[in-house]
Amino acid sequence: MAASPALESSASLDSPPSLELSDSFEEFRRAASIDAITRLAREVLLDPTYPTVRAWTRAGRGAVGCFPVYTPQELIHSMGLLPVSLHGGGESVEISHADAPLGSFLCSISKSTLELAMTGLMAPFRAFVFPYICDVSRNLEGIFSRAVPNATTHMLHLPQNFQSKASVPFLVAEYRRLIAKLEKAGGEPYRPERLVESIELFNRQRAEIAQLTATQRAEPGKLTLTESYLIRRLGGLLPREVHLELLGRVRKELGARPNRRKDAIRVLLVGSFCEQPTLDLIDLIEQVGCYVVDDELLQLHRWYDRVEPSGDPLENLAATYVRSPVDIGVRAAPTTKAAAIRQRVDAADAQGVIFLTAKFCEPALEDVVLYRKALDERKIPYLHLEFEERSAAYEQSRLQLETFVESILFD
Ligand code: SF4
Repeated sequence: MAASPALESSASLDSPPSLELSDSFEEFRRAASIDAITRLAREVLLDPTYPTVRAWTRAGRGAVGCFPVYTPQELIHSMGLLPVSLHGGGESVEISHADAPLGSFLCSISKSTLELAMTGLMAPFRAFVFPYICDVSRNLEGIFSRAVPNATTHMLHLPQNFQSKASVPFLVAEYRRLIAKLEKAGGEPYRPERLVESIELFNRQRAEIAQLTATQRAEPGKLTLTESYLIRRLGGLLPREVHLELLGRVRKELGARPNRRKDAIRVLLVGSFCEQPTLDLIDLIEQVGCYVVDDELLQLHRWYDRVEPSGDPLENLAATYVRSPVDIGVRAAPTTKAAAIRQRVDAADAQGVIFLTAKFCEPALEDVVLYRKALDERKIPYLHLEFEERSAAYEQSRLQLETFVESILFD
């Protein structure tokens, strides 16, 4: 693929770290322990040059960038393409190009994702899918189509009324528009039997992840939130077959790990369903004495437990998304918020809630308003923190977290 005029004229990031992985992802297949897996995951996350995508596309295979929070990744996989969850540039990217087309009062993920595109680091991708979750994601698709003109971009419209009989056919029609674009972008022709195979593979991946998060909830001294996060994050970056093997090894090791208990409160972590907090901030929440027994990090694995593979796979995929119980700001159902947050607190046996929202993320902030009211009525304590991708100083957050934990521990 020839470089676009936009890419030719823009410099790459200054000396980005470049982790070279083998085409067959041997490094991950050989990583035998949780320590080894999470070490590799950190290296991947800190490298803005998409090492897993470069390894995959080196052999002539195509990759599709999927902006949060929902894309039918099973469908992309079934067309021989690697679906890659985009989560911005994290701590590694300084904004020097994307602040021209994007205003100041926008979330970091939109700016850093565009920065990566404008500096050529997203050149290995063949296509990008932006679900219409908010005004920011909607505008980003149009800007991307100019910043990376040789790649295909697609705006995926999602139903907003989950009771309407028209929602499933509407989403199936949206999937068909996506299929047509991906076929033009070099994906294999859509075949229902291939989609059934991909659905079964993703069902296995979701079941393993559900087991991981169930362990986090029932035996929180067995693995840290950071470990769980890093393992889950790889699930949107690696070929799913490689990730599934790795999850099997994680499950075995966890079975033998002791559940080391400490004085800590059980909390729900709410609001980080799109932009992701830094690893330092995730780590800090545990350091100050929290067991995170339920969270909204990395929404991609948690829309539903399972898609029915028999029958029409496109319709099953759409129906499962429409019937998903997930109730977050990007699915507009404000009337159900109060019941949803109380039910989650009860199910996780949580003692408090930490709202961890990206700065300027309107959908998350709207949720917070509704959730706070519901928690106040039940006298459930909560704390609200905001973050940005490149925040480095957490002293203020540490202080607020420590005060919150102590107020519950010594209540
Ligand atoms: S972080 Fe919030 S505002 Fe930004 S793209 Fe995601 S949902 Fe939209």
